[in-house]
Amino acid sequence: MHIPEFRVQRRDGRKKDSNGNPITKKGDKHPNIVNGYVLWETVQLADLAQTKKLFPEYKSMHSQVLQDVVQRVQTTMDNFTLPNKNGKTSGRPKFKGKHYYNSFSYPQLSNAIPVKNANGRFCVNLPKIGLVPLVYNRPIPAGFKVKTGTVIREVDGWYINFTIEDKTVPVEVAEIQPTLKNSKGIDLGLLHYAVTSDGEFIEVPKFFRLSEHRLSKLQARLAKKQKHLSPWKIIKRKIAKLHQLIARQRLDWQFKLAYHLFSDVSVIFIEDLLLDNLVRRCKAKLGENGQFLPNGQSAKSGLNKSLQDAAFGQFIHVLEYVAWKLGKRIVKVDPKGTSQHCWECLNRVSKSLSERWHSCPKCGQELDRDYNSALLIQKIGLLSTQGEDITWC
Ligand SMILES: [Zn+2]
Repeated sequence: MHIPEFRVQRRDGRKKDSNGNPITKKGDKHPNIVNGYVLWETVQLADLAQTKKLFPEYKSMHSQVLQDVVQRVQTTMDNFTLPNKNGKTSGRPKFKGKHYYNSFSYPQLSNAIPVKNANGRFCVNLPKIGLVPLVYNRPIPAGFKVKTGTVIREVDGWYINFTIEDKTVPVEVAEIQPTLKNSKGIDLGLLHYAVTSDGEFIEVPKFFRLSEHRLSKLQARLAKKQKHLSPWKIIKRKIAKLHQLIARQRLDWQFKLAYHLFSDVSVIFIEDLLLDNLVRRCKAKLGENGQFLPNGQSAKSGLNKSLQDAAFGQFIHVLEYVAWKLGKRIVKVDPKGTSQHCWECLNRVSKSLSERWHSCPKCGQELDRDYNSALLIQKIGLLSTQGEDITWC
């Protein structure tokens, strides 16, 4: 592909300086190659007009939807090449075939709904597509304006996701000072989904395990069918629906749990889990002659499965959202040492993963290990919000 070294601006830029003159002007030359790297996003955005000439089917798509596709590719590439604030990068981008590309976005779907069609049904006016009837079950709150709209294909139909904005609503983060009484610590685990410093034990939901049997049966049936033929498609769809059901049950349960946990406190302390580390594959172990040695991956796969089932990462997002919605606060604390130390005297009491009981030889504390962690998380949280560090014994 030939990449021109420069591109010439065709219109005056929108941004203006204090004198009202556009910052970038018609006829300006911009480089396409900077420091030896091609600016793919700008080159491709500029090339969209050419693409429409070469492939007329692209004309049926809204220009901003196409621009958004290019920007998505850029974001994915950036996430792959540039480390985020935790110093991590995402995996290599994969090509998405038409069966895996499930959404498209209108970056400026301003005031698109509600519109009523001739039959009086609520519709959304999607540029280049037209009036699309929708189940308008959650009205846009008064005063809010629709900013963007993303159309999403799910297994049971099409959905639209709006982002809305009301500039008069202040974006506030509650700064409640935590005390021993208005806060609780939460330890997330696999044996119990969560244990609170009030001594509440929340059991792991087994939605996935319960559906797993049905899933494995369907998958066995799928394996016998010839790919892409009608019977195969029917079973494939059933599997997708089952996955959707599990995901919805889990999210619903997590919201209910989050509201329950915030029902009697204003601040929740939680471990700052870097879950990506937990679900990674084990490093391959190589022997002297370069052969693979057992590295514990098979044992970890079972753990990975439970971890993903529990979906703690999603739960933490839900907790953050619920806290924001209720005007309450969530504080993440460093989980270092929370499973190995005594919450009362901070003495180190080493335990293996299978030991479920914490008994402290120094101060005589006797309690469940996860309960101990929850109390310790609260203690660390209270200290850290007062600007103090914990000193282990
Ligand atoms: Zn102790």
